Amino acid sequence: MVLTLQSPVEQLPRVGKTIARRLRNLGIESVAELLGYYPMRYEDLSHVDTINALAPGQRATIKVKVNLIENRRSPYRRKMLTEALVSDASGSLKIIWFNQPFLTKVLNVGDAVYLSGKVESSEYGFQMVSPTYEKERKEQIHTARIVPVYSLTEELTNKQLRYFIKLVFPLIRQIVDWLPPDIVQTHKLMELRTAVQQIHFPENPALLQKAQERLKFNELFTLLLKARISRRSLMQEQAPAIPYQQDYIRKFVGSLPFTLTQAQKKAAWEILRDMEKRTPMNRLLEGDVGSGKTVVAAMAMVSAVRAGFQSALMAPTEILAEQHSKKVRELLAPMSIEIGLLTRSSKKMREQHVTQSVILKAIASGKLSCVVGTHALIQQKVEFKRLGLVIIDEQHRFGVEQRKKLKQRSKGLLPHLLSMTATPIPRTLALTLYGDLDLSIIDEMPPGRKKIITEIVPPQDRQATYAFVREEIKKGHQAFVICPLIDPSDVLGVKAATAEFERLKKNVFPDIALGLLHGKLRIQAKEHVMRAFAEGDIKILVATPVVEVGIDVPNATAMIIESAERFGLAQLHQFRGRIGRSEHQSTCFLFTETANDLTQQRLRALVESENGFQLAEKDLEFRGPGEVYGLRQAGFPDLKMAKLTDVAIIQKAREASDWVMQRDPELTLYPLLKKKMAYFSKKIHME
Ligand code: ADP
Ligand code: MG
Repeated sequence: MVLTLQSPVEQLPRVGKTIARRLRNLGIESVAELLGYYPMRYEDLSHVDTINALAPGQRATIKVKVNLIENRRSPYRRKMLTEALVSDASGSLKIIWFNQPFLTKVLNVGDAVYLSGKVESSEYGFQMVSPTYEKERKEQIHTARIVPVYSLTEELTNKQLRYFIKLVFPLIRQIVDWLPPDIVQTHKLMELRTAVQQIHFPENPALLQKAQERLKFNELFTLLLKARISRRSLMQEQAPAIPYQQDYIRKFVGSLPFTLTQAQKKAAWEILRDMEKRTPMNRLLEGDVGSGKTVVAAMAMVSAVRAGFQSALMAPTEILAEQHSKKVRELLAPMSIEIGLLTRSSKKMREQHVTQSVILKAIASGKLSCVVGTHALIQQKVEFKRLGLVIIDEQHRFGVEQRKKLKQRSKGLLPHLLSMTATPIPRTLALTLYGDLDLSIIDEMPPGRKKIITEIVPPQDRQATYAFVREEIKKGHQAFVICPLIDPSDVLGVKAATAEFERLKKNVFPDIALGLLHGKLRIQAKEHVMRAFAEGDIKILVATPVVEVGIDVPNATAMIIESAERFGLAQLHQFRGRIGRSEHQSTCFLFTETANDLTQQRLRALVESENGFQLAEKDLEFRGPGEVYGLRQAGFPDLKMAKLTDVAIIQKAREASDWVMQRDPELTLYPLLKKKMAYFSKKIHME
């Protein structure tokens, strides 16, 4: 059978149903995907030693002849030993393997073989225990070279994967390089085929580095180019120009019960300036929990209403939508602007005897100029009369295509878009991640906030903390207990949270109303629990981090975070932001069983800093960008190779994407690139 890059791996020799399934578990179904499964790291076994130069404790590779090899039962345990005597020109050495009796069939007396392993000393002299072995052949793939190490599940071995990859190596010839040759040349990049070869079986460290650079470039370049293309497509749209009416805005600001912070003023200014343009605003407003994003959003709404346009504010859950509508209603009341709340089954709506259809009519007629709701607001068939502004809370990605659908509801004009997030992503990262967005950052908290006390709690102080929480509840307050995802298979965190909930209920707080919130609950059940907590019926809420706990419960004054060391600092900071929202003193307890220095040092950073951006930078320092919280939630695709700290490559990728956009934004000159980008968008869309 003729193999191609598209061939399923089943067609490879030695790949049966079972192995195919195991490969599929790694996301490998085709030959192309096999070649695209890059090593996690490398082991440099390229230096070959002679036996007389070996020292105990050293890891070494030797090239030897097998003089003797046989199996015997170990006298101690029920183990099968394979013992061999091997030699090179400089001496001989004893080798032992455990429980691999088949080795006497694989390795024969007289064979030339490479062995890589640790040298140990025994009463009979030096020996090597359980070395990797590989017979000498035209090209070594397991020893005597820089050896690739893949990240695998237990069901597959590195030897197997190396073998399969080497098997399909000739097919690398079929890979076509989709990067414009000019870019390859200008940036001195390695040819794609060579890069794929070298990433798996590098000839030397320099070539490996070039291969890594090329593959990282691929990722960053496509990412940035995609952002540029989206932005361009957006800039070809028309948006309503909303004049900045200074007097009116001033009046609104004057009606607020507080003075805006400098950071809020700056962000509002940037937003209002954007809305004046005829091209659609595409802006991300970042600010810590409690930094006062809502009032800034309200200023944009006020401005749109004044110019005769409608605004829609969307939140991820119904409860949050309700909370937003309440806040915005208060803020806009002095301007006599009415707010409509549109949710699926709002209790509030029922209380007020407002039916959905009444609100829908008011939106369609233009009578209602501000609507708050969940994302259903734009998915449903809500007809706006003149939609001019869309504000999205906590969902950064809002596809251009999705957005263009709004055009029909706004007289052919594309509404301005403001996205808000409390995820503190450092500016450098944000610019790479959201190349298509403009950024406003509120990096200052309103004055007069009570600092949340944060304490690291060692295991022996657990009881004291529980007693403290009990006191808080006695005073009429509430508390959170956040449990980490412990078992990787338990992605929804059901196990850990349920177990902790049961334990607390039985042993610690039997007389207190506890609630449980985890990812497996249905939306309605989740909303039910959150509402009960918000209304004070539940006193202690046990929750997993996967659950959006973005609710505003000012009465909650204590938080316990279990196994705090498992979280990134920025994420811990996000959790902590759920308390400290009233005039009462709040306390956050970080439970940890790990006494090691680095953990303590990281957690101390949280005790000392209340700045989300600083903490996100610290995460970068301590754990690397893969761990910066919020990236995945932000709908950002995983980078296989590139790190967001690969500054030089990011720079190159940025230049290259600018160059393409200047030269040929439609990519007509580069059909291969165009195809690649179409494939890439599809992939992102499905995630
Ligand atoms: P977030 O950024 O988390 O959405 P909010 O907009 O909900 O924050 O604001 C948190 C609280 O701070 C609200 O009660 C709001 O009224 C108040 N607030 C906002 N801006 C200021 C300010 N400049 N001075 C004092 N309080 C403010
Ligand atoms: Mg908010």
